[in-house]
Amino acid sequence: MLPKRYDFKSAESRLYQFWEDNGFFKPTNDPNLPGHDPTVKPYVISIPPPNVTGVLHLGHVLFVTLEDLMIRHQRMKGVPTLWVPGTDHAGIATQLQVEMKLKKEGTSRQEVGRERFLEETWKWKEEHGGRIVEQIRRLGASCDWDRERFTMDDGLSRAVREAFVHLYEKGLIYRGPRLINWSPALQTAVSDLEVEHEEEQGKLYYFKYRLADHPDQYIPVATTRPETILADTAVAVHPEDERFQKYVGRKALVPILDREIPIIADDYVSVEFGTGALKITPGHDPNDYEIGQRHNLEILSMLDKSAHVTEVGGPYQGLDRFDAREKLWADMKAADLVIKEEDYLHQIPRAQRGGEIIEPMISTQWFVDIAPLAEKALKVVQDGEIEIIPERFKKVYYNWLENIHDWCISRQLWWGHRIPVWYCDDCQELTVSREDPSACQSCGSENIRQDPDVLDTWFSSGLWPFSTLGWPDETPDLEYFFPTTMMETGYDILFFWVARMIMFSLEMTGKIPFEIVYLHGLVMDEHGQKMSKSKDNAIDPIDVMNDMGTDAVRFTMLVGSTPGLNTNLSLQKVEANRNFANKIWNAGRFVLGALDTIPAAPETEPNWTLPDSWIWARTQQLIRDTNRLFDNHQYGEAGRYIYDFFWGEYADWYLEIAKNQISEGGDRAFYTVETLIKVLDLCLRLLHPFTPFVTEEIWQHLRDAVLDSPLQDRLPEWPEALMIAPWPESREPEGWEEDKIKDFNLIQEIIRTIRNLRAEKNIKPGKRIPARLVGGDHTKTLQDALKSIIALAALDPDTTSLVPALEQVSPTDIALVAGPVEIYLPLSGLVDLEEEKSRLKSDLEEINQQIQRLEKLLAGPFTQKAPPEVVEKEQDKLNEYLETSRTLQDLLSSLEDQS
Ligand SMILES: [Zn+2]
Repeated sequence: MLPKRYDFKSAESRLYQFWEDNGFFKPTNDPNLPGHDPTVKPYVISIPPPNVTGVLHLGHVLFVTLEDLMIRHQRMKGVPTLWVPGTDHAGIATQLQVEMKLKKEGTSRQEVGRERFLEETWKWKEEHGGRIVEQIRRLGASCDWDRERFTMDDGLSRAVREAFVHLYEKGLIYRGPRLINWSPALQTAVSDLEVEHEEEQGKLYYFKYRLADHPDQYIPVATTRPETILADTAVAVHPEDERFQKYVGRKALVPILDREIPIIADDYVSVEFGTGALKITPGHDPNDYEIGQRHNLEILSMLDKSAHVTEVGGPYQGLDRFDAREKLWADMKAADLVIKEEDYLHQIPRAQRGGEIIEPMISTQWFVDIAPLAEKALKVVQDGEIEIIPERFKKVYYNWLENIHDWCISRQLWWGHRIPVWYCDDCQELTVSREDPSACQSCGSENIRQDPDVLDTWFSSGLWPFSTLGWPDETPDLEYFFPTTMMETGYDILFFWVARMIMFSLEMTGKIPFEIVYLHGLVMDEHGQKMSKSKDNAIDPIDVMNDMGTDAVRFTMLVGSTPGLNTNLSLQKVEANRNFANKIWNAGRFVLGALDTIPAAPETEPNWTLPDSWIWARTQQLIRDTNRLFDNHQYGEAGRYIYDFFWGEYADWYLEIAKNQISEGGDRAFYTVETLIKVLDLCLRLLHPFTPFVTEEIWQHLRDAVLDSPLQDRLPEWPEALMIAPWPESREPEGWEEDKIKDFNLIQEIIRTIRNLRAEKNIKPGKRIPARLVGGDHTKTLQDALKSIIALAALDPDTTSLVPALEQVSPTDIALVAGPVEIYLPLSGLVDLEEEKSRLKSDLEEINQQIQRLEKLLAGPFTQKAPPEVVEKEQDKLNEYLETSRTLQDLLSSLEDQS
């Protein structure tokens, strides 16, 4: 017997332990064990490694539950499954955490030095790095924890070295000065991902670029960053802009500095924007850098690494960038070089960590020559070797790879994979090596120094799907589990991560890293707004799990998700899904209780009732729908189907009818309980990937109870746990199913119609009322289900009758219509002929509206787009309505005759 209430708090940790202790998270058909069959294709996911500094947020919850759902589904299908977990060392994020800690202790990174700083960071990682992993376990993640990896563990560090040296030896890695994003506060290059662009109120400054040969004439130019005027090396106009054509080829004078720079023509310039003329600063703007490359312009750097003006700025040297802006502008005003200032909303690049304004700067860094890698990565998606879901993101992927820039991979940090390059103080040559060298490869000198920089975090995560399986070694895991199957991640890191994994994998292993990329959206609040602490709309998943259980959170995230679209989350939804978990629990309790009441053995072969056959046919339909939706990666939709079936059909209808059938005792009770159990078992299997805890808990009780009951001979197949029980496979519909579903739908319609009338007339729920049913061609069907109708519509069994046709209608009866069936309720005193007519008329109107709606739907594109079975369902509905409409019209005219 199940306890009265589902205690998720104790169940969740106990069940997780039970699964893990039994090795259910580990792959079957393990290539490291005897008896391995290499011909069986496994299903493999590598987890997007969360930052080791991370604290669980809803984004984690979404990807962990989605991946767990995929893995549990495949595992139940009998496929060898592997889900590799791990964490990312997260260069800047972690380094800043430790720097903060040192600051509190009154010291700093610089003070303790590199070696001790790294010791501190490793210590910090050991102490805090386990937190995110614990939280992921709480979500029910069925990862193989024996294969957990960290981007800086020994194996993965070796993979990083191998990849770097490989690319270097192929000439695909180089060092040189290029324009990069510079963070003056963090004193490092940062990736585009670490730069946030938010619209902010700024100013557009209009000023005069005087001509060198005619200082009384000028070209008007506008800029948002006047201080960069100090590093301008050209003025550009559009080649077809008639206003400025006469100036092209001449020289202009940089304000205040009076340096001469060329006036050039370039298509990039927009005639409409600003004044139509652009100042070009290749040293401090990515677009200008491109123009500079095209026109061979000089590159000047007017800022140093701490964003103070360099000697390029002449009299402004030494000023902070913002002070320089003010001073220069004031001087220009005094020199009559200013035209005007305007308020201007524009995108300002700020560091994701720290929030200061990022400065595009020329800096000497290490780069990957990305074009040759990008070409191959484009091809595997174009050729369909890798599928991207949803498909519209393919275009985004192509667009990015076709316009890709070389990738700056060096970072001026201490925490990370140190660049494996050593500089020789004697011969100045480089040594690039897989092993730490003790001497220069060129001259043998021992005066060598390793490059102080570390690699961009995305360099190591780009190797993740294969480095976690043992690459560069040819391990049995790599041989069997690679390429992996599914890369499930957020669409926001399609470039930063997914594309880089594809490029690296093709280059390093010659294989694609995964077959399918499934992109989920972002998690928003209930109004579709981004969650943030400042807006006070952030939801802490741990709090919600503590309050309402992990299954409720999982189910809410999963049914709310559609590939590529954002998910709006509200606590009300989680609460509703906690109620769903309780609904499953209560249904389980009822079924287990009923099992105790059945006779030891049936006397006859089963004689199924219409409701028995209906629920079984609908279960088969549900299995087909679920499998079709899973095959199309419509996991959320599948969850909604199962939810609706379980709540709306199994619990609300079949369970109620079963109570009545069980009360008959004997074989009827025996076979009813068998049906209850079979359907519950299948539902628990279908629900398990969504809500693993509550389903496993009920299933364990169900399993034990059935194996200890008279049903054990008829239902003997119960594996050790639901999580390894076989997934319900679809079978072809059998001929009888559709008829039974239609028949039962009619019964439901009759019951609903009577219930509505009862509600309308305020008849107390317990009061049994008489009825006369006129079944016509459906009399036999009604006869088979009469007991259910009587029970669920609360009819009086002694005064309820069923006839094929009625000779005369009593004018004092209330007449109702359900499809082809007429129902007469002799409720004298409650009936008013005029009221009756107007009620029937309004029913008829409503039905006719439904008919119009469906006719319109079925005449439209829906018929081509929706799956045939869905279209058929709507067609059936229409036919039913048409029938009801006809019967209503007949009734109305007979009432008209009477009055
Ligand atoms: Zn040397």
